[in-house]
Amino acid sequence: MGKRIVMVGAGLSGAVIGRTLAEAGHDITVVDRRSHIGGNCYTERDAKTDVMVHVYGPHIFHTDDEEVWNYVNRFTTFLPYKNRVKSTVGGQVYSLPINLHTINQFFGKALRPDEARAFIAAQADRSITDPQTFEDQALALIGRDLYEAFFKGYTEKQWGCSPRDLPASILKRLPVRFNYDDNYFAHRFQGMPKQGYTPMIAAILDHPGITVRLDTAFGPEEVGEWDHVFWSGPLDSFFGYRLGRLAYRTLDFKAFRHKGDYQGCAVMNYGERSVPYTRITEHKHFAPWESHEGSVLYEEYSRACGPEDIPYYPIRLVKEKALLADYVAESQKTSNVTFVGRLGTYRYLDMDVTIREALDCGRAYLRAEKHRNSMPAFSNVHI
Ligand code: FAD
Ligand code: UDP
Repeated sequence: MGKRIVMVGAGLSGAVIGRTLAEAGHDITVVDRRSHIGGNCYTERDAKTDVMVHVYGPHIFHTDDEEVWNYVNRFTTFLPYKNRVKSTVGGQVYSLPINLHTINQFFGKALRPDEARAFIAAQADRSITDPQTFEDQALALIGRDLYEAFFKGYTEKQWGCSPRDLPASILKRLPVRFNYDDNYFAHRFQGMPKQGYTPMIAAILDHPGITVRLDTAFGPEEVGEWDHVFWSGPLDSFFGYRLGRLAYRTLDFKAFRHKGDYQGCAVMNYGERSVPYTRITEHKHFAPWESHEGSVLYEEYSRACGPEDIPYYPIRLVKEKALLADYVAESQKTSNVTFVGRLGTYRYLDMDVTIREALDCGRAYLRAEKHRNSMPAFSNVHI
């Protein structure tokens, strides 16, 4: 007989694990404290302009994982979409990620690829052989001028600290290209769901073995009522924050409407500190196959996350990692609870990685059940 299993959170993690277990015959309840499914991937149409809005910030799907790509395409129609990001610096608009166009425009040159490679190598700080910080990684890779123009101010705004205090891994997410390829992501499969992410997640949840309860906060005291709990809420919230709060950055989106086309692209970054927001997103450009008179835009401001704010980016510095280790040790003492997703494992996870981990986690549960083993507190956690 199927087990009674609850997914705390109706985002991608809860939906995909729930679906995997429902298909295996389990009785799944998905609860979310919000009034909608989809977690942070939630999209909805603006009533005035009909533009599809990425309510919790812009989401572009990109992956090299063919199984994940086939999985999402099973539930909705994706249309081709390439993310081409611009950055306004010093009154000029440049192309990101740093590519040959950015380099030639910034330095007023007409270099060919090999020339640009040699030119940037001469700018780079060769004394930094094993960069550990964001700043050292940038100086070693592209030199001071490009770093200060495109990364220093933006990163200070985004993270609220000096790039000297951030790990090199954050910058390693971005490539530097010596050709004119301005595709922000290098993944094989990229696209945007034609009708936004909400119908895709609704389709994943649409199974006779799944019941969804919205506007319902799940508390740790309810764990005993279920055969198993998959917790995709904040890890520290499960323990009532008793060891302290894991630090996050939150985002404020200042929305405004515009008639016509405001900025001509989906994402415009602002590298300078003097501009208080990090970027402006114009949502209709995420659906270039649609046409709208009006436009909806978000100015995006980053700040420290308070107790009432939505946690967006985990801050994984030494202090936070020590606290995370303490919570992981606590979690391993619990039984019948598995912590999953971006909040449950306190990591920045792209959607494709979230889905991959959720598929693997659901399968791990089914394997453990078959062999009568208990499911561990984590399938994935990195300290
Ligand atoms: P979430 O979506 O956060 O879902 C967790 C859910 O749990 C929430 O709905 C919450 O309300 C609910 N919950 C929490 N506690 C409780 C409780 N006690 N009881 C009931 N419900 C609870 N990924 C990409 O691939 N491409 C992108 O372009 C991209 N852009 C992003 C931009 C931003 C600004 C951010 C922050 C993330 C971006 N991501 C992107 C990552 C993407 O948002 C995540 O991969 C995805 O949301 C993770 O899903 P999840 O289910 O783990 O978490
Ligand atoms: N970044 C920057 N300038 C930019 C874009 C990104 O300094 O114009 C830095 C910033 O610190 C950011 C990191 O590079 O956190 C990774 O960029 P990405 O676009 O992956 O940011 P995210 O999707 O996390 O917002």
